[in-house]
Amino acid sequence: MKIGFIGLGNMGGPMAANLAKAGHEVAGFDMADVAIDGVSLVKSAEEAATGRDVVITMLPNGQILRAVADQVIPVMQKGAVLLDCSTVDVESARAVATQAQDAGLSALDAPVSGGVGGAQGGTLTFMVGGDDAGFNTAKELFDIMGQKAVHCGPSGNGQAAKICNNMILGATMIVTCEAFALADKLGLDRQAMFDVVSTSSGYSWSMNAYCPAPGIGPQSPSDNDYQPGFAADLMLKDLRLALQAAEAADADTPMGRAARDLYAQFVENEDGAGRDFSAMLPRFEKRGHA
Ligand code: NAD
Repeated sequence: MKIGFIGLGNMGGPMAANLAKAGHEVAGFDMADVAIDGVSLVKSAEEAATGRDVVITMLPNGQILRAVADQVIPVMQKGAVLLDCSTVDVESARAVATQAQDAGLSALDAPVSGGVGGAQGGTLTFMVGGDDAGFNTAKELFDIMGQKAVHCGPSGNGQAAKICNNMILGATMIVTCEAFALADKLGLDRQAMFDVVSTSSGYSWSMNAYCPAPGIGPQSPSDNDYQPGFAADLMLKDLRLALQAAEAADADTPMGRAARDLYAQFVENEDGAGRDFSAMLPRFEKRGHA
């Protein structure tokens, strides 16, 4: 396929490289100076989008996505697919999809889980919103860039799935960390705590696969001085999107709100910026009962 790829950062760069390696013709554009194996760089978003079967965007936020969509939608050929893989607010995803459909295009919102390692290894999970035709065209590309693509329904539902998942993850990681800190103060050995919880009803991905306590469970960022991994800053971004969506949809999400407030405190007022989101454990260790 002829592919345009806009936003060649930490995630977009390796995703575009994997598509080129698989034999697709990829024209890439980024505002920053980048070089990506196998990708021919062009000078504007419009140039990256003109005459392509699929235009992929991997951008920082919804505002930038809307600006790039304004540039590329008018030049895309009828029937082409606009495939946004960024994590953005549900409202922007739906607005861009409507704009694309009105111009005779297919639109998909397909945020990812799996981080930079998943982008490099081609093992991302895609959560996809949009029409069947677009999904069927893009399926071949999802299979190259990832290991799984779930079609979640109409436009915006990919973003909805992503923020609901990450709201669960953020709240679960916090309570796993506070429980470890409580266990320490109660004199319970961390290995014993892991052995019990990971095989009892408190088990979760945060405990079993990404244990925040160093030296316990499988290798995770806690074993590497909490280098991300999944940065607390990105968790905060996703929790803010979840709370924005909850407000717009009139949903009550008290645990999500508490998680957002705690990650905001951690990233903006403490030492959380640039650290893995599981570094909540050393944060709680230092604290007493409020
Ligand atoms: P990044 O900042 O490394 O990359 C974004 C790129 O977009 C940058 O290279 C930037 O120069 C470019 N850009 C910004 N505005 C542009 C414009 N108008 N035109 C062209 N290029 C422009 O960010 P990233 O880590 O690659 O993340 C991209 C998206 O993926 C975000 O929405 C993020 O939330 C999501 N995401 C990231 C991770 C992760 O672990 N990094 C995991 C899952 C999802």
